[in-house]
Amino acid sequence: MPYVICEPCIGVKDTACTDVCPVDCIHPKRDEDGFEAAEQLYINPDECIECGACSSVCPVEAIYEDSDVPDKWQSYIQKNAAHYQ
Ligand code: SF4
Ligand code: SF4
Repeated sequence: MPYVICEPCIGVKDTACTDVCPVDCIHPKRDEDGFEAAEQLYINPDECIECGACSSVCPVEAIYEDSDVPDKWQSYIQKNAAHYQ
């Protein structure tokens, strides 16, 4: 089950997660096109290896494993995936 970035990232976007992801599947990164315009970052569900490193470093607890996403943020599962479609 891939990890998912939820609402608390909005307005924070400190990129702590992108620094620790071993497979570089969280975007947009600070130096990529679209970073300033993006309201939050997104995890590519097809590339995430479910290591949990990102979740551990997020200062606002925005990142959950797919199966543990709180009910109020279920839409973020599709929102993350949609960023890569
Ligand atoms: S769980 Fe691991 S692989 Fe998946 S996005 Fe987070 S750091 Fe990257
Ligand atoms: S560490 Fe958390 S708040 Fe920071 S960019 Fe990643 S998901 Fe957003």
